[in-house]
Amino acid sequence: MPRKGREPRERYRCQVSREERFARPHRFRGEAAIDGWRPAAFVGTRGVVYLVGAGPGDPELLTVRATRLMRNVDAVVYDYLVSEAVLALVDPGAERIYAGKRQGCHALSQDEINRLLVALARRGKRVLRLKGGDPFIFGRGGEECEFLAAHDVKFEVVPGVTSASGASCYAGIPLTHRDCARAVVFATGHLKDGSADLDWDALSRPGQTVVVYMGITRLAEICRELVAHGANPELPAAVIERATTGEQRVVTGTLATLAERAATAGVRPPALIVVGEVVKLRSSLDWLAARAEPALAAA
Ligand code: SAH
Repeated sequence: MPRKGREPRERYRCQVSREERFARPHRFRGEAAIDGWRPAAFVGTRGVVYLVGAGPGDPELLTVRATRLMRNVDAVVYDYLVSEAVLALVDPGAERIYAGKRQGCHALSQDEINRLLVALARRGKRVLRLKGGDPFIFGRGGEECEFLAAHDVKFEVVPGVTSASGASCYAGIPLTHRDCARAVVFATGHLKDGSADLDWDALSRPGQTVVVYMGITRLAEICRELVAHGANPELPAAVIERATTGEQRVVTGTLATLAERAATAGVRPPALIVVGEVVKLRSSLDWLAARAEPALAAA
């Protein structure tokens, strides 16, 4: 099901011809540098792809570089996770192409996205490839860059605030703390073959924080596996839904209780799972709620 209010994105209309999208590698030579272009990773094509992290949702978390590029591109290819508030900052004259990538519901396959980026760049376009969070953290940014490099397309990568970082700060749950978390692990709950075959022994070790991306639909299984591999069932854990947006929700519990609480609350993707003693700190560090209360009282 498309998300409410986002239906038009599903009707993908690409103005690039089929020949161009599926064209064989071809090199443009001797093209002038693009305005504002800094030392390029690859030269030889006249177009360029900017692989930009859009952050977890709040447009205030965009980098200065991201906002500058958003105003100076010819086309934007964006994912499901890119918020409306962020998209609103893209040059209204830029061609908009929705690439999808919601779990199990891709408007375009990864191969089609790769070819589309190459085709647009070969037409001399400045292409903004906007990805939720950080492009190099569970975002297939590496795969897209490999394809661009293999096709001699010039590209640049702009980091974004990854959702773990945004969720941690906006939920008042530090990812590390000298008292209880000397390491933090980012894991994915969704693997290429659809399984969640993780290194459970490593994830169950004490003294660290584990953040699971794309794991919310497997929350019960993840909590069960952690306990089965030695984690304390009383270990604090949280899910953070739509972090940093106006719709952020946080559900806390323990490995023993979280899955049921999240199900009762109806938590849905996109959401992160955070497991570790740090979750306890939220009771005193939830600055967002503390800030909202006086405003609500005054209204
Ligand atoms: N590159 C992205 C991650 C893409 S994988 C990043 O750096 O954040 C997609 C997963 O990221 C989602 O399934 C969810 O687990 C997480 N995610 C992305 N945005 C989120 C948000 N605003 N709130 C909670 N989780 C989010």
